[in-house]
Amino acid sequence: MEYFTMNNGIKMPMDGIGVFMMSPQEAEDAVYHALTEGVRLIDTANAYLNERGVGRGIKRSGVAREEIFLVTKLWPSVYEDEDAVEKSLRRLDTDYVDLMFLHQPAGNWKAGYKLLEKAYKEGKIKAIGLSNFPEDQLQWVLDNAEIKPQMVQVEAHPYYPETELKKILKPNHIGLMAWYPLGHGDKSLLQEPVFTKLAKKYGKSNAQIILRWHVQSGHVVFPGSRNPEHIRDNFNIFDFKLTDEEMKEIAGVDKNIRYYHATPEQLKRY
Ligand code: NAD
Repeated sequence: MEYFTMNNGIKMPMDGIGVFMMSPQEAEDAVYHALTEGVRLIDTANAYLNERGVGRGIKRSGVAREEIFLVTKLWPSVYEDEDAVEKSLRRLDTDYVDLMFLHQPAGNWKAGYKLLEKAYKEGKIKAIGLSNFPEDQLQWVLDNAEIKPQMVQVEAHPYYPETELKKILKPNHIGLMAWYPLGHGDKSLLQEPVFTKLAKKYGKSNAQIILRWHVQSGHVVFPGSRNPEHIRDNFNIFDFKLTDEEMKEIAGVDKNIRYYHATPEQLKRY
């Protein structure tokens, strides 16, 4: 495993699992399989409605809580709820999470950020993150917040490597968690000829080449999968290294396209 050291000194694993669009039972099973395979980073959100399943998967695995890096997110509908953090902790059946995000830059996100700062000071969350915040809102937080965020979480993959955003992140020592690291399973991304060529060279799958590119680009990844074989493969990317030339070749597939934007209707849900 490789680790990213956050600006508060805490280390996080750079490869994990995400449980978006999974039922509570599917999330429980996926988390259980992942932890059994050695995965130690789990990403969920209150909007995924499966935090209880994640908590059960952790308990079922028998892996000690302190060995796991657990991430969740608050949806805009709870940014003004003083108990929002506690409620997530209760659903996850844990005393703390390692990283908590504001999921979207909508609603009263400034109040949401204050909630996270308070929870951080109380030790209920060990790091603060902003998900899907554009550069200007991120900059506002950097200029005005008492505690700087440790991470952002944004859509990023070889078709959309977030080159501009990284210009703000680097000098502020803020890490990047890449959601849709495999383009949400998009075949045209997975089957780009450069990945097929490199997969053959290294004896890996195309998905493993993409995940390795992320880690070497400094991105933390947490691909989604219910399939135990994919879960194992997605974690098995630390026994080879892409060359600088190969990293440059992969940079050539950048199409500046994103797969997903939350609509105003979606932002009102949960
Ligand atoms: P992904 O890019 O991880 O792709 C998942 C898809 O790829 C699934 O269809 C899966 O079956 C397939 N897949 C997984 N491993 C594979 C492998 N080894 N070979 C071939 N196919 C494989 O997309 P995702 O799961 O939607 O996103 C990952 C995580 O990002 C989510 O689970 C969630 O935690 C997070 N996320 C966050 C936000 C946000 O707004 N912050 C939005 C979307 C997703």
